[in-house]
Amino acid sequence: MRTPIIAGNWKLNMNPEQTAEFVAAIKDKLPESSKVESLICAPAVDLDALKKAAAGSELRVGAENAYFEDEGAFTGETSPKVLNEMGINYCIIGHSERRGYFHETDEDINKKAKALFANNVTPIVCCGESLETREANKQEEWVVGQIKADLEGLSADQVANLVIAYEPIWAIGTGKTASSDQAEEMCKTIRDTVKDLYNEETAENVRIQYGGSVNPGNVKELMAKPNIDGGLVGGASLKPDSYLALVNYQ
Ligand code: PGA
Repeated sequence: MRTPIIAGNWKLNMNPEQTAEFVAAIKDKLPESSKVESLICAPAVDLDALKKAAAGSELRVGAENAYFEDEGAFTGETSPKVLNEMGINYCIIGHSERRGYFHETDEDINKKAKALFANNVTPIVCCGESLETREANKQEEWVVGQIKADLEGLSADQVANLVIAYEPIWAIGTGKTASSDQAEEMCKTIRDTVKDLYNEETAENVRIQYGGSVNPGNVKELMAKPNIDGGLVGGASLKPDSYLALVNYQ
């Protein structure tokens, strides 16, 4: 049985003070983590405040990006080793905004996944097609290609433990959610790809989130689909009430 995981992706929003206030407002109202894992992924500058505020609660904490080297002359980057030292549980990698604005490649994302595993931080590997690719009906080919490249060289055990987030770019921040059938179809394709690359057990264990305009009004329908194990949520994760409605969808 896969434990559902609902993750906020705060993107470039919130400061440490707002982070502490947010967590204080939600920390006693979260579901038990054995039923639904509640996660917030925050900007690097907020992680210390997030971790401290979340202490002793069910809230899991995550970063939005990390580099694939632990230390050295890499100005401006975030160390996966230090994320681990800080007690950060998860790290998003390969978000379409990172791929688009910051030119991250599948090769970078693959190196980041390996560096995170080496440091005991669980990667949330994002994939998803553009509107152009969907209109050309090439979305499956595109996403399968991303998954193969992003997971290359990872062990079955590692893949069973990571999280994949399917986020069609045309649904992100647009209010235009993929239909639950479209989301389910692609999450199933991703699971089948993991089965082809590894084995049935790995495919049964890997958690696959849908992301793209998830909100309190559509989360239940999405989560009812057999291959959708969670949500990666941007805009609707920025207000305590909305975040609580998401994680308490059951
Ligand atoms: P959105 O963002 O929920 O605001 O569409 C999702 C994401 O980019 O992770």
